Amino acid sequence: MRKIYLDHAASTPMHPEVAEAMMTVMTEKFGNASSVHSFGREAKRMVNGARDRLAASLGCKPEELVFTGGGTESDNLALFGTIQAKKSRGKHIITTAIEHHAVLHSCQQLEKVGFEVTYLPVDRTGRVHPEQVAEALRPDTILVSIMYGNNEVGTLQPIMEIGEIIRSKNADTVFHVDAVQALGAVPIHCNEFPVDLISFSSHKINGPQGVGALYIRKKLMIEPIIYGGLQEKKRRAGTENMAGIIGFAKAAELAADGLFRRREQDLHMRSTLLTSLERTVGRDHYKVNGSEEFYLPHIVNISFPEMQTETMLMNLDMEGIAVASGSACTSGSLEPSHVLEAMNLPQNLLRSAIRFSFGLGNTSEEIEYTAEKVGTILTRLRKKL
Ligand code: PMP
Repeated sequence: MRKIYLDHAASTPMHPEVAEAMMTVMTEKFGNASSVHSFGREAKRMVNGARDRLAASLGCKPEELVFTGGGTESDNLALFGTIQAKKSRGKHIITTAIEHHAVLHSCQQLEKVGFEVTYLPVDRTGRVHPEQVAEALRPDTILVSIMYGNNEVGTLQPIMEIGEIIRSKNADTVFHVDAVQALGAVPIHCNEFPVDLISFSSHKINGPQGVGALYIRKKLMIEPIIYGGLQEKKRRAGTENMAGIIGFAKAAELAADGLFRRREQDLHMRSTLLTSLERTVGRDHYKVNGSEEFYLPHIVNISFPEMQTETMLMNLDMEGIAVASGSACTSGSLEPSHVLEAMNLPQNLLRSAIRFSFGLGNTSEEIEYTAEKVGTILTRLRKKL
């Protein structure tokens, strides 16, 4: 059976050049970067070389990057690391209702131990309004955490405006941005963003799984969440995932070089999907969720109100086509998406949302084929109703 992968927001295939760079490390290099002998020194040189290259592609200084075990750990380090360092100053945190669970569940945990969290609402397109951040800021607000691009609907947040507001109103408040989905899809230049902490993950940009990084603005002190040796400059203990780090740096370089090309490609896939669905499903039978103005080009979230999410998902899977449900990061669960709920979508749209996400290797023909199949599934199952 033919296989079509349209779930790149969940994870991406590894770029061959990334695999090649990692293969040398996995087969030939095994020193521990913390050892003093020549094997250790070589490992350290490799990790630091990767850090230099990653910093160059993210627009920051190498010492501002800490390698982590992925986006989830980066988010946890940003939140718990900040509150540990700043808790004597206040116990108020601001975030939004549409964050990834790595942030939301961390916030819920913090509420249990005495922190107060304000969850900002979003509008119908999934956007947070900067004035709401301004209104929510208090003298005891120690942290604001707002994602750049949403993983379910692709909506981009006005992080520049929000960052400027925080700096002008509450210069001591730490601003964290989860840029896991944004990396590789929109330009990122850490030092030019009015942001203190930024989370990244490698496997969303054709790099290996289980590795990521947290950008920590120079001079900002946060506490570690993993204790042990002195690796990662006392900010994250444990032997580094050297092959993963080398692969991540390579993937980030390729992503930075190919940003414009990828954007063109994603936009092309997006418009191909939408025009094909118009033909195969008919404009009255689906609704695109999210912003038409501020969005990540690789993510399109569409509701087909005549069919529940799981039915469409499984029928497409039987055709070899991989897409995601609205609640993309609670896969396996049939719970409605907290993102679509926060956007105030009516029940019929909430319960019929499908996320299509494009990436390396997708072709227009695959997208047209997918739209055909969506049309056939809807027609076939509609008849049975
Ligand atoms: N934040 C966002 C916005 C994400 O999309 C994801 C991945 N679904 C994560 C964080 C977690 O990243 P990882 O899978 O590397 O832990």
